[in-house]
Amino acid sequence: MTAPSEQKLVQCPTCGKPVEWSEQQRWRPFCSERCKLIDLGEWLDESNRIPGEVTPGTGQDVDV
Ligand SMILES: [Zn+2]
Repeated sequence: MTAPSEQKLVQCPTCGKPVEWSEQQRWRPFCSERCKLIDLGEWLDESNRIPGEVTPGTGQDVDV
C-alpha cells in the first residue's frame, strides 16, 4: 500500500529554503537552528529599538 504522504513544505522565513513541515523538523518553520536564532535575533533587535531614536527627516530638514 502506498499512502499518499502529503509533504507540506514551508519556506524558511530567514533564508527562504523549503522546509518540510514534519515532526522531525524541530526548527520548523525554520530550516535550521541557525535560521531560527537569526530570526529571533532580528525580532529582539526590532523590539529593542526605542521608538524615537531613529527619526530620519524629522527635525530641521522637513520640507513642508
Ligand atoms: Zn533557513
